[in-house]
Amino acid sequence: MNNYEKVADWIIEECDTPHREVAWLLEKLYENKKPKLTFEEAYGDVLKMLKESGGGVMDSNQRKADLLYNFGGQGLVYDKVNEGLLKYDKWEYCGCCECQSPIYKDSCLVCEATIESEVS
Ligand SMILES: [Zn+2]
Repeated sequence: MNNYEKVADWIIEECDTPHREVAWLLEKLYENKKPKLTFEEAYGDVLKMLKESGGGVMDSNQRKADLLYNFGGQGLVYDKVNEGLLKYDKWEYCGCCECQSPIYKDSCLVCEATIESEVS
């Protein structure tokens, strides 16, 4: 996947406001004779973010949790975890949620905060 495709994926899958993002991009392209921003200037941060998260952004389990959270909040995420519909590794205290939360791949499924496991 080249960088353009990665950003396209990000806009479609991960961006909170994909329509606005595309409109902004078109504006940058056509508003002026020359693009105001280079691709790196416009999407360098996104590419960096994608790279840092291992290239694959969120996996489908995290994405599902994120959608559930947006739809029904913390409670719905807990329900789906308890129903076995979301994968998780363990329950652990999340400082961000201020309660026990399902932890998946070292991050809270509810708020996505990274949980530093205490060495036992
Ligand atoms: Zn949390």
